[in-house]
Amino acid sequence: MTVTTLPSAPSTFDTTQAVWSATDELRNPPPAKLIVDRVTKSFKSQSGWLKALDDVSLTVGEGEFVCLVGPSGCGKSTLLNLIAGLDTPESGTLSSDGAPIIGPGRERGVMFQEHALFPWLDVLGNVLFGLQLKPSLNKAERIDIAKYYLQLVGLGRFVHANVHELSGGMKQRVALARTLAPNPRILCMDEPFAALDAMTREQLYADLQDIWAKRKKTIIFVTHNVREAVCLGDRVVLFSPNPGRIREEFRITLPRNRDINSVELAEHATLITRALKQHNATTNTSE
Ligand code: ADP
Ligand code: MG
Repeated sequence: MTVTTLPSAPSTFDTTQAVWSATDELRNPPPAKLIVDRVTKSFKSQSGWLKALDDVSLTVGEGEFVCLVGPSGCGKSTLLNLIAGLDTPESGTLSSDGAPIIGPGRERGVMFQEHALFPWLDVLGNVLFGLQLKPSLNKAERIDIAKYYLQLVGLGRFVHANVHELSGGMKQRVALARTLAPNPRILCMDEPFAALDAMTREQLYADLQDIWAKRKKTIIFVTHNVREAVCLGDRVVLFSPNPGRIREEFRITLPRNRDINSVELAEHATLITRALKQHNATTNTSE
């Protein structure tokens, strides 16, 4: 596979200088350990209460990359929202490095399938927005940091581009830079590449693995794409719906960076897909 990084021309931005001028902010904080303990969550539907998550427990180690996989409606996004602190569990607890998760927090960054960029801000402005919660930084430091992350995601040449000028993949890169900019310890990603074409996704798989290795985040990545999960995850956790439960998990030890088109990866994905189908055989849910 030929891999071409998006902005191929040299950037005028000096990453080394940014590290020097905003040293503390750009230093990797230790990735957090996440514990989900016996979490249940129900929603009211037209036909009564629906158990989106039933007694779900999951421990994610410091710096681990865990992919949550399952068909639509099995509670993946519900769990991610709880981890992000955007919703609260009905019962059970969630904690990040021992601290209970009771709301959104700067140490947990979230990225969704929809980029949700502000069209009236340029690329830099969108990433700077993510730094608003850092009152300790002055304006020049914020700009240095935002540029560092734009460089990291391969958009060093597009700092002043308008959002509408960007391709879908580039928009997701901006969204990733914006999520990374406050330097979270946990990254929650909900099907971030699902709307992109295959070639764009492949490039992002490679880049996300590089960024994860460089920035040392704990990552919880939701997908319904088994191959994607095997390509990215240290661990693939299988969910099934009605009620949403964790059924099985697989540790993936293939060497990195992984190529989604490799035979070994396809073999792993076939095994996991088979397991997923077995777990879902008793439900009528389809994607
Ligand atoms: P997934 O991300 O795996 O596709 P979700 O976590 O989005 O699944 O949803 C799990 C179940 O909970 C689905 O049946 C969904 O319709 C329901 N659900 C999720 N959020 C809400 C909500 N805010 N109100 C009502 N039902 C919801
Ligand atoms: Mg979802």
